[in-house]
Amino acid sequence: MRKLNTRWMHPRDQITMIIDKIYRSGLTTTSGGNISIIDENGDVWVTPSAIDKGTLRPTDIVCVKSDGSIEGRHKPSSEYPFHIAIYKSRPDIKAVIHAHPPALVSFSIVREIPNTNVIPQAKHVCGPIGYAPYELPGSEELGTVIAREFDKGFNSVIMENHGTVVGGRDLSDAYQRFETMEFCARTLINGSTIGTPNYLTDEQINEFESQIPRLLPEMDEVEHPSDERAIREQIQRIVLRACDQGLMISSYGTVSVRWRGNDFLITPPNVARWDIQLKDIVQIKDGKREPGKIPSRSTWLHQEIYKRNPHVNSIILTQSPYLMAYSVTGEKMDVRTIPESWIFLQDIPNMPFGSHFAGQEAILNTLSVNTPAVIINNDSVLVTGDKLLGTFDRLEVAEFSAKSLTMGASLGKLVPINDQQVEALRKKFLS
Ligand code: 13P
Ligand code: ZN
Repeated sequence: MRKLNTRWMHPRDQITMIIDKIYRSGLTTTSGGNISIIDENGDVWVTPSAIDKGTLRPTDIVCVKSDGSIEGRHKPSSEYPFHIAIYKSRPDIKAVIHAHPPALVSFSIVREIPNTNVIPQAKHVCGPIGYAPYELPGSEELGTVIAREFDKGFNSVIMENHGTVVGGRDLSDAYQRFETMEFCARTLINGSTIGTPNYLTDEQINEFESQIPRLLPEMDEVEHPSDERAIREQIQRIVLRACDQGLMISSYGTVSVRWRGNDFLITPPNVARWDIQLKDIVQIKDGKREPGKIPSRSTWLHQEIYKRNPHVNSIILTQSPYLMAYSVTGEKMDVRTIPESWIFLQDIPNMPFGSHFAGQEAILNTLSVNTPAVIINNDSVLVTGDKLLGTFDRLEVAEFSAKSLTMGASLGKLVPINDQQVEALRKKFLS
């Protein structure tokens, strides 16, 4: 993953930005969790203890110098002992995040480790996950049991009856690991609510990892006229909005928009999605890519969708927590829940894992005006549409429906709207 553009930021600014993201996305409480960064001098920048995590400012961040002296107007986190224990045992780790995100806490209180083979990138992003037995918060003993797990090479650890702690080579790396691990846990919980999650084999994960982004030839010269730049802005705005709305995570997600004819712009792989910059987006023109840039691994699929479906002008491929419940269980999602769902989606078929790899025809043969979205098992959801905002809206409708179905599962069986009601919708809204 490319280093965060914000790596030029001071550690205290990085920490406040990430704790704010974590708090806003419901991954920590006002009082819970802590973050630190160790810098080149061995000084540790850490969140203050028991200060509102929802409103931290850079001046609240405490610096524990390598000589042990403390600079700042607050006390350092009470969990500083385990942060420093991790840095001592693993000099390659430069940032640590600890919190009590709900789904990982579910695993921690039933004393299990989430199996990351449920989606393709998670195993790689999280790595194998360690398990630290319960010890008193803030104690040296807690530091010892956690450092022991990091010592074994784990970068992600479930803390028994407490939460989770992850390390990274920088804060972006740690954040992505933290977010992806919680996402896996949520997906497993949501999947178990509507069915039984299936797991990928290591071979399937390797197949995903070794996909070559079928490198299109580079164009000799590239131009960025204003309509092309306008598309870059649109894509960036939608990616950020999807991240903010919980419809995309840092480690997965592709957005493309048709430009002229069959030419289009598409997001790259290996960029933390919420940190995407206008210049990261790749232009694909006459079957060639912008020089020096790598487009998404799914570029071939996007290219073929645009060629074969003149009505499609934008595509979003992403992982969102409730649609992924259907993806990992292979359960069929019934969109006859409410009129909005049926009108926007009509049908969302499940496609086998790997069907979006280059050269595969199954998705291309399935998508149509009446089938604008597909769920790819153990991978993602792919949504097509005309304008990008409309495609995003369709994704939101799909995710909301999946959420209603999942939450409704404990209440009773879905009573779908009937054929006659669907016919009336078709007449009024789709003809
Ligand atoms: P601090 O506010 O002291 O960092 O503690 C939060 C926490 O999560 C303790 O485990
Ligand atoms: Zn804690």
